[in-house]
Amino acid sequence: MTRIVQKYGGTSVGDIDRIKRVAARVREGHDAGNEIVVVVSARSGVTNELIGRALAINPVPEDREMDMLLAVGEQETIALMAMALHALGVPAVSRTGSQAGIVTDPAHTRARIVKIDTQRIEDSLKKGEVVIVAGFQGTDGQENITTFGRGGSDLTAVALAAALKADLCQIFTDVEGVYTADPRVVADARKISEISYDEMLELASLGSKVMQARSVEFAKKFGVMFEVRSSFNQKPGTIVKKEVKSMEDVVVRGVAVDKDQAKVMVSQVVDKPGSAARIFQALGDAGVSVDMIVQNVGRNGVANLTFTVPRNDSLRAERTVKDLLDDDGGGEVEIFDSIAKLSVVGIGMRSHSGVAAILFSALANAGVNIQLISTSEIKISVVIDLDAAEIAARTVHSAFNLAGA
Ligand code: ADP
Ligand code: ASP
Ligand code: MG
Repeated sequence: MTRIVQKYGGTSVGDIDRIKRVAARVREGHDAGNEIVVVVSARSGVTNELIGRALAINPVPEDREMDMLLAVGEQETIALMAMALHALGVPAVSRTGSQAGIVTDPAHTRARIVKIDTQRIEDSLKKGEVVIVAGFQGTDGQENITTFGRGGSDLTAVALAAALKADLCQIFTDVEGVYTADPRVVADARKISEISYDEMLELASLGSKVMQARSVEFAKKFGVMFEVRSSFNQKPGTIVKKEVKSMEDVVVRGVAVDKDQAKVMVSQVVDKPGSAARIFQALGDAGVSVDMIVQNVGRNGVANLTFTVPRNDSLRAERTVKDLLDDDGGGEVEIFDSIAKLSVVGIGMRSHSGVAAILFSALANAGVNIQLISTSEIKISVVIDLDAAEIAARTVHSAFNLAGA
């Protein structure tokens, strides 16, 4: 008997017909004698709609109430999916995150899973039931609902696969796997058959929202191999797994674009030891995560500091830095919202030189100006104008020959 965790994303359960189609697919697996746990997302658009309503009532809703609200989306889907399976004669039971035993820390809207008590799921599986679990949510152990951040149903699936020692973890979505770039932006992007955790983690963290970054981190930590594949056909997808030697043969695995960033420029900061420390300490205390920091050489006793933050945090970042500068002898803060971060990722970069040169000349040839650069062992990121993001993605994708590789 094979134990399978299957996750179906928002588009895959987007309407009644699609829910019925997923149920039929689950029935096939169940009839073949497998133990199946199904994780579902909210129908596509529902989470955004709920967020819109919250913000229309209160522009700064409390995180606890936000979780209470957003968990509703997944709760609708589990019930409908159970009903669809019952209609096909398949024994099935729906469970919220809490009922599935998923216990988290109390960090509302970005909770981390601390343990999963699998007893109830195990009991259902023993009885031959399909268990349908609401993705994206858990409980803090004090009967408060918590959620895992956008795209968090992926984390539910990977974590359940680990806790239940599943033989297979399948992430069903609206594309056929992980591609060399977002196939909706780069028409000739190619499906990747196997990718390492590290590459998948970089792509996800750098804007490829096909997998939630935290779910990949979790999968790497607990060695959960998983497959990303289409819910609309039977084609094999992309296997995400531990690095194997041959993966290094490919220098650049993929291109990611993140359009949800903002650039913060702090100018005329007093150039003395501790200035940067104070700014980043204050930002850290305010819960703003900072990326791509560049400081120029100080002149006449002042320096400029530029960095990127998630666009949602840009006002908080501006306020935090302004308050600090006012107390600290002056300086200016400016926010630039219309930027994008483009990155190339590949573990093969560790042993190859020249990647930066290809990237920069491709952008130059396309007339795209580079505002900031950062590198790590397996990625190079640049900040560019938001309007240039798509053309830059296509240009860079073809400069590295990713369609034909
Ligand atoms: P789900 O609702 O199933 O979780 P998501 O919308 O979260 O699906 O993720 C799937 C989407 O991710 C695709 O529709 C695609 O546009 C986007 N995407 C971005 N980068 C990539 C990539 N490199 N490979 C595949 N899909 C990508
Ligand atoms: N419904 C949540 C979201 O839209 C979680 C998910 O879909 O994975 O972010
Ligand atoms: Mg998703």
